[in-house]
Amino acid sequence: MKSKKKDIRALTKEQLRKFFVESGDKAFRGNQVYEWLWSKGAHSFESMTNISKATRQLLEDNFVINHIRVDQMQRSTDGTIKNAVRLHDGLVVESVLIPTPTRTTACVSSQVGCSLDCRFCATSRLKRMRNLNPDEIYDQVVAIDNESRLYHNRPLSNIVFMGMGEPLMNYNNVIKAIDKITSLEGLGMSPKRITVSTSGVPKIIKKMADDEVRFKLAVSLHSAIDEVRTGIMPFNENFPLTDLKEALEYWYEKTRSRITYEYVVWKGINDRKEDINALLKFCSYVPCKVNLIEYNPIDDGEFQQASDSAIEQYISALESRGFVVNVRRSRGKDIDAACGQLANKS
Ligand code: SAH
Repeated sequence: MKSKKKDIRALTKEQLRKFFVESGDKAFRGNQVYEWLWSKGAHSFESMTNISKATRQLLEDNFVINHIRVDQMQRSTDGTIKNAVRLHDGLVVESVLIPTPTRTTACVSSQVGCSLDCRFCATSRLKRMRNLNPDEIYDQVVAIDNESRLYHNRPLSNIVFMGMGEPLMNYNNVIKAIDKITSLEGLGMSPKRITVSTSGVPKIIKKMADDEVRFKLAVSLHSAIDEVRTGIMPFNENFPLTDLKEALEYWYEKTRSRITYEYVVWKGINDRKEDINALLKFCSYVPCKVNLIEYNPIDDGEFQQASDSAIEQYISALESRGFVVNVRRSRGKDIDAACGQLANKS
């Protein structure tokens, strides 16, 4: 049941200080409570031990702490962990912990479902139910940080916004969450270790550049030919590649931050010479690197990973032009935790 009390974590520190002043207490009390909520990750008012009983009751009467709950944790044979995360209103999103020998990366969701309609992605079948709040995004990161310490004996090192949803369609909340993740009152992580991945919303890419954000940008390109891209990512009709190119040029001019293009090569879709040539041209616009992602089948085989030789041709064409290209193997496939597989199956 939805509570009528306000989620205390929707308040800024200033608002919290004001609440205490208006209740006849000191503004400083706001700082203390804020620290409990964010640095110490308190799940209840009761646990705030240096706050008086009367004050805790005052908070109890006025607010709730809408904390996420990890309902189910699945562990892959390769060490990947997938969390099914229950939100205060009962909806569920998924987040993933991806370990490598040197890093632990959290892959987090930004929306329940997704408003886009990429035909190769399982999340698109869920439709967008709602945006996640900043604290719901932040909590996913904290949960994975805890799991990283527990199972891998080290803190989380990187974050990618590549879970469910399109982060740029929930821009304000994503920015607020990142502010919290990078601030010393939160996790104190460097923004350089955070990557926001988008299907490419030109207007918001420009806004991010104007806002002088310091995290990294990845774009799910998959094709540099409009007809092909619209066929697999229908929203491309509204955001054609010329607009995307222009926005990315603007981004680079303002941020000087290299862009990563994510790209899957599919049989009979983008495995021709002209697809490669179009990508080479697109890569020449702004400094970038290309991540070739392994395709994770989601259903009946409408989409199939291209042959190894087609992928080799992509790699050698890019490398011979001096572009950096990485091949990204899937992680956590056995628990449906790989790219494009997040669909609340269980
Ligand atoms: N909406 C954002 C972030 C989520 S998708 C975006 O589009 O970037 C994260 C990455 O997984 C994207 O690059 C997406 O194109 C890719 N992806 C989606 N479905 C996939 C699948 N079935 N196999 C491999 N990668 C997939």
